Amino acid sequence: MITVSHACRMTANSHMPDEINPWSRRVTYGWRVASNRSRRARAARKRKRRMARVEHDLSDQQWTAIKAAWGGCAYCGAADTALQRDCLLALSRGGRYTLENIVPACRSCNASKCNEEVTGWLRRKRLDEKAFLLRHYEVNNALAAEFATPVQ
Ligand SMILES: [Zn+2]
Repeated sequence: MITVSHACRMTANSHMPDEINPWSRRVTYGWRVASNRSRRARAARKRKRRMARVEHDLSDQQWTAIKAAWGGCAYCGAADTALQRDCLLALSRGGRYTLENIVPACRSCNASKCNEEVTGWLRRKRLDEKAFLLRHYEVNNALAAEFATPVQ
């Protein structure tokens, strides 16, 4: 590694234009911003590709109906809180934002379940797995009937 004396650095700073001066703060700062930006852009592109691979067809109307059908968090029953769209089968496991795969979840359940497989998670949290699956089945049937596209 080449070390540059302080004196040399001072000289470089005072004589070289910023664009080619390797010691310039502006150049260093600019490089940092650029690398940060490209890392974020790469993550965004990756997410976009992942999202594009799956079909997401949940409409706002369907989401409203899902929330109404469950009447609260699908897992713990909390009703006095903001509900988030939770993918029963996580996106990372191939799940989609569709009528059958979305249930309303409170922030706490959603964060806790994360990408975990739902029945295993329910058991671990000592939530009523059987009741959930039964309820999900009923809600799903009702919603499927409600949003069935008429055969023409
Ligand atoms: Zn909950």
